[in-house]
Amino acid sequence: MPPLSRRQFLARAGFGAGTALGAVTALGADPETVRAATTPLGWKLRETKVVPSVCPYCAVGCGQLLHVRDGRLINVEGNPDSPISRGNLCPKGAASFQLTVNPDRQTKCLHRKPGATRWEPIALDDAMDRIAALVKKTRDETFHATATINGRTVTVNNTLAIASLGGATLDNEWNYAQAKLWRGLGGVFIENQARI
Ligand code: SF4
Repeated sequence: MPPLSRRQFLARAGFGAGTALGAVTALGADPETVRAATTPLGWKLRETKVVPSVCPYCAVGCGQLLHVRDGRLINVEGNPDSPISRGNLCPKGAASFQLTVNPDRQTKCLHRKPGATRWEPIALDDAMDRIAALVKKTRDETFHATATINGRTVTVNNTLAIASLGGATLDNEWNYAQAKLWRGLGGVFIENQARI
């Protein structure tokens, strides 16, 4: 008999409940405990498509299995076949299901005006224009072409007034463009978390 794939093994463990329960009961296991343990497997595997993926959150790149039913994501878990993470996910990766299904997830830009106590919706284009204008203004006001270091005047062409902090969901190409942009503006404090 050829070896079972993981999916076949889990499917048989979950759906062949009569056989499986009978077998484990014969071994002395509590059938209710076994039934409780196998029910989620059936829920997860029945009529689902399993899509291997990679956690979007950080550079570790842990493997994930996404369970999809009727075009909707119903579960995310660690991929035991991943040589990087071997089925494990940290709390952030384990909660990535929420990234797509949580109705409370913020999907619009919000702006809190200086001195205000409330956040208000703002159009993405308006937010981007405001950020660009403030970056330009701050950069122009704080740009230094030269600095005196150990009594010598040297060219620095920088601003120490703005920092760029990239998130782990930025891919390598975006990080590259981000670093180019900020170095071109004279930015010194640039931090990105590279992704694979
Ligand atoms: S956020 Fe956690 S689960 Fe995701 S890749 Fe990083 S370590 Fe892995």
